[in-house]
Amino acid sequence: MKIPFVKAPLTGNEANAVTEAINSGYHGGDGPFTKKVHELIENEFSVGKCLLTTSCTDALEMCALLLSAKPGDEVILPSYTFSSTALAFAMHGFKPVFVDVNNENKNLTIDNIKPAVTERTKAIIVVHYAGIVCDMDPIMEFAEKEGLVVVEDAAQAVNSKYKGRYAGSIGHLATYSFHATKSYSCGEGGALLMNDEKYFKRAHFLWEKGTDRSLVLAGVKNKYSWVDLGSSFLLSDILAALLYDQLLNKESLQEERKRLSTAYESFFREANIPGLKYLTCPENVVSNYHAFWIEFEDAFKREKFITAMGEQNVSAYIGYVPLHTSPKGSEVGLCFNEKLPVTDHAGEALVRLPLYNMSQDEIKYTISSLVNVLLDKSQ
Ligand SMILES: *Cc1c(COP(=O)(O)O)cnc(C)c1O
Repeated sequence: MKIPFVKAPLTGNEANAVTEAINSGYHGGDGPFTKKVHELIENEFSVGKCLLTTSCTDALEMCALLLSAKPGDEVILPSYTFSSTALAFAMHGFKPVFVDVNNENKNLTIDNIKPAVTERTKAIIVVHYAGIVCDMDPIMEFAEKEGLVVVEDAAQAVNSKYKGRYAGSIGHLATYSFHATKSYSCGEGGALLMNDEKYFKRAHFLWEKGTDRSLVLAGVKNKYSWVDLGSSFLLSDILAALLYDQLLNKESLQEERKRLSTAYESFFREANIPGLKYLTCPENVVSNYHAFWIEFEDAFKREKFITAMGEQNVSAYIGYVPLHTSPKGSEVGLCFNEKLPVTDHAGEALVRLPLYNMSQDEIKYTISSLVNVLLDKSQ
């Protein structure tokens, strides 16, 4: 048996969904399937307004454009994240200020954020790592008090909940990813989510190449023109059809990921390996089981594990290379502290296990490989 690191989620009905969209004759953006996905996301996740985009990276760029950077403006974000979280803001005039995360789930907390705030801070970008939503209440309360905007990078947390509220419905702005490696996928795709009405109108301009086409569609004007910056951020309706099918089946897809995630968690709980940390979910969060990570004591032990799993034909991958140590991140960003100890350690010693909609046999095989690699007393 061979266990890849990730496989795109499938419902089995994707081909029908795509055929329907092709036969409808409408293949551009903002079509009937796009509208269905917008409605589904707005209703089921209690989001103010949704716009489908070609990626989460694009949606993050839209957030940056909506915040209109003035020279010197800063955004605070974790160093332990994907390049997109930082580059979207760096591309549109913000200085990324990297801070550390908490040890339990590698998420930003209010304690990481507070010391890094200056009069130049415009926004806080939180990342819900591995499907675990950040502790949002203290962050939102602080941001409201200080007049800061909160953006949720919920690329990994579609359908996760914090105190009964969905990821993406809490911050002023938020983004989802529907990339092939995520829990719900249309190959390449994303969404911008807005929970503050003041962004709705401009976001439509940015979405449609800087034009006020949305006002024509709404019957407010009869000719549209170029009114703002923007890009062609819209997702093709063919991909929206594929995505709609995935989101209609989101609970059963999530249930399949939960089976494997639960098997991992009980393995590590029972094995109780000294010095080894693993992902656990806080009580006030319901995870979408996007990812499962373990963390060794050092880089050497992690390397040994990845190699040994590879010999069992199971692919495990390192987590993020911290952005403050990356070539571009250290050039354009600012690191709040000289060292970000939790981030640095995760960068060296955290590893993600394969997580996708595995069959029962594949789950058994993967867990038995962990037994062979981690519990083999002869080593
Ligand atoms: C995957 C990911 C992104 C980028 O998503 P795309 O849809 O591929 O642009 C951004 N942020 C985080 C945290 C991610 O995991």
